[in-house]
Amino acid sequence: MAVQKRKPNKQQDKATASKAVRTKPTELNPKTTHYEFGGPIGAVAMVIFLPILVLFFATCCDETGYPSQAFKDDWKSALLSKLNKDFLISLFDPMAFAIYVAFVGILALLYLVLPGDNIPGTVIRDGSRFKYRMNGFASFHTLLFGALYFLKDTGLKPLEYVYDHYIGLAFASIIFSYLVSIAVYAASFKPGKLLALGGNTGNPIYDFMIGRELNPRIDSFDIKFFTELRPGLIGWLILNYCLAAKQYIDLGYITNTMVLVQFFQSWYVIDSLWNEEAVLTTMDITTDGFGFMLAFGLYTWVPFTYTLQARYLVDFPRSISWIEFGAIIAFNFLGYFIFRGANSQKNEFRTYPNSPESKKLKYLQTKVGSRLITSGWWGMSRHINYLGDWMMSLSWSLPCGFASPIPYFYPVYFGILLLHRERRDDHKCRTKYGEDWEKYCKIVKYRIIPGVY
Ligand code: NDP
Repeated sequence: MAVQKRKPNKQQDKATASKAVRTKPTELNPKTTHYEFGGPIGAVAMVIFLPILVLFFATCCDETGYPSQAFKDDWKSALLSKLNKDFLISLFDPMAFAIYVAFVGILALLYLVLPGDNIPGTVIRDGSRFKYRMNGFASFHTLLFGALYFLKDTGLKPLEYVYDHYIGLAFASIIFSYLVSIAVYAASFKPGKLLALGGNTGNPIYDFMIGRELNPRIDSFDIKFFTELRPGLIGWLILNYCLAAKQYIDLGYITNTMVLVQFFQSWYVIDSLWNEEAVLTTMDITTDGFGFMLAFGLYTWVPFTYTLQARYLVDFPRSISWIEFGAIIAFNFLGYFIFRGANSQKNEFRTYPNSPESKKLKYLQTKVGSRLITSGWWGMSRHINYLGDWMMSLSWSLPCGFASPIPYFYPVYFGILLLHRERRDDHKCRTKYGEDWEKYCKIVKYRIIPGVY
């Protein structure tokens, strides 16, 4: 807060800022010496190929197949036909772009005007502690009921726009992600900024990708916190609902598989919005800078790849037996029980260490001050929350059956992400806690799956 919120006169501001830069550059913002994600080469690959992958799903999966029949017949020609100027120009859909920007704008406005508890985040390393307004749940419902009010006169027809202009919307979100990432990267060079410990290598493409500034803010508007749950998670559900409406318009009913996908994913998102506070202790907020990885991940990747299952079921509607239906529900809720139980337990323990629930837990007191839980969910494995999360991701794809691998993209990618994320977190904690982390790993032996891994 000290850095962003102070508002003395301009001359004084300049003096203080340059003093901050002159006196404490390496102490507060040390140079990052460790690369992740394959370093600069990995960063270039992510910045170029991840948007192409999103466009691949949007353009090479259609009602002829996932991937499309044209792709199956001759994948080289199908891809080459897209590597030309005309195709790239056709991707830009001005109306879709305007709708996408309006959507993010409405979410930003709701974030600013709707009431919500102002909850303090963790103390960051310059000693400040930001407050975050918890109104994601209210924002989602305001948007939803606003849309329903509008639709009472028109019926579901306008929602078909999303299916019909899916490519244009995906491309709009990609442009938006690049613009936001460029803006926050440029702003991170202003004096007095607190940088992420992992985002200050000095290599521009790597820092741009991983995120340079820890908490980019426009006055009290926290860009990272806003982006974390709103455009990504709310955007995902809004797209999903539009796809369900499309199936209803096409068939006159909604298949039980679509019901499952909608129910699971709504549950996941609404639960995350309801427990918005829990995001304050995640790596994204406490450790990672805000750059292309988070911006693209939340403006594009989450809404446009996590909706693959719903989109598949519009193109290939299918129903399943009630036994399969029940089994998939049971598997999902087992995953949810693990995921939510573990995340809430850590959040409760860290935020309210003297609550009766927290007092029941065993812990290891580290020299740097934090306590690491060694019983309950966190005594079973060091990231049991990842296991529950992955089980849920698999249950979202099972309703699509096994005719195509593409609806399983999400659990496969997510599994890899979680394995990698666990290694990153392990490295972070090893660096932070040293010997204490070794001790903790001896008490809690498994990384993710108790007894197995
Ligand atoms: P965690 O919520 O697991 O947080 C890890 C941090 O918690 C560590 O860095 C450490 O921070 C602290 N910690 C570690 N062990 C203990 C312990 N035993 N007791 C107390 N604190 C401990 O990690 P993530 O932020 O990666 O994940 C949060 C949730 O988000 C997970 O459920 C994950 O599955 C989900 N997720 C979902 C994604 C998606 O795309 N759907 C993507 C990524 C994550 P400290 O320095 O404070 O000690």
